[in-house]
Amino acid sequence: MSRFMAERYAHLEAYTPGEQPTDMKYIKLNTNESPFPPSPGVLRAISQERVRELRLYSDPDCNLLRRAIAKQFGFEKQNVFVSNGSDDILNFSFMAFCDGTKCGVAFPEISYGFYQVYADLYGVDAKKIALAEDFSIRISDYCYNDRTVVIANPNAPTGIALTREEVEQIVAANPDHVVLIDEAYVDFGGESALELVKKYDNLLVVRTFSKSYSLAGARLGFAIGHPALIADLEKIKYSTNPYNINRLTLLAGTAAIEENDYYMENCRRIIENRAYLTDSLRALGFEVLPSCANFIFAKSDQIGGEELYLALKARGILVRHFTKEKIKNYNRITIGTMEEMQILTNTVRAILAEKSER
Ligand code: PMP
Repeated sequence: MSRFMAERYAHLEAYTPGEQPTDMKYIKLNTNESPFPPSPGVLRAISQERVRELRLYSDPDCNLLRRAIAKQFGFEKQNVFVSNGSDDILNFSFMAFCDGTKCGVAFPEISYGFYQVYADLYGVDAKKIALAEDFSIRISDYCYNDRTVVIANPNAPTGIALTREEVEQIVAANPDHVVLIDEAYVDFGGESALELVKKYDNLLVVRTFSKSYSLAGARLGFAIGHPALIADLEKIKYSTNPYNINRLTLLAGTAAIEENDYYMENCRRIIENRAYLTDSLRALGFEVLPSCANFIFAKSDQIGGEELYLALKARGILVRHFTKEKIKNYNRITIGTMEEMQILTNTVRAILAEKSER
């Protein structure tokens, strides 16, 4: 840290993103990207002519993309906010809705690690709520109407999902606070809370193009909520970086939404491959949590979490290992193509066999 860094950030612990290695080609199952390319319309949308237009600023209102998203999900443009990845929307939401002096925030103790970082960044009082023994979220823990609630549904890194009814109970029990439901993984088998947005003015549903829409590298996320919540997020955006989505990403996102069926078919394949991997790892003695996401969370009594992560990495397969005490025996494995799932299974089998021979 330099001597110029603001005092209030001196002890900030930044988020550690999953590895994006450039040293060699891995089977990359560590950051929940899609194994499928963007749809043909996205490739067509990024023409040379459009690249030439990069000399111009992008549309800060993101009119076409917001309209396309609104139409796809049955809302008005005023219900839709778009930003540079859903991380950006979470960041803005912590700024806008978790003011330390007014309320603070509650989120599950085991969830997306960035929630804690944003809370620390803005000095927000964070109540971290333990999960049940089976890693599920106990909804009664979130029904106190005393702070902003942030829940990933399905949760990460467990993949376990709440039903729409359970989400509604939490939203209804917190009428004076925003309930942010982070639906990064909902297209892989969760129940979306989107339709509740029409009924509750305190619900913000956050989505991303990074997983089901194969656009992680484009950096694009969206949120759907009451127009007043969206206006608050716009205010933050216009107070930080109004052109925060580049022209090519706006085109890519609009084209992707227009080919929704292509992406939903890919999600169906991911769900199939997830069932295959879950069965294969269980057959090898793993405990695999029931996942509604494009990843599974698994552990084995025969090998430690870190040991398996390192052994897989040495054999060219990247998965995600977390060092937090309660989950350090697990690995989070992104669902890829069937071929990748077969290679992973065979590699895990070989690692376990080698270990038992030693
Ligand atoms: N929410 C959750 C639960 C996530 O796992 C991720 C991906 N790491 C994000 C949000 C952020 O995704 P992005 O910024 O790529 O939209």
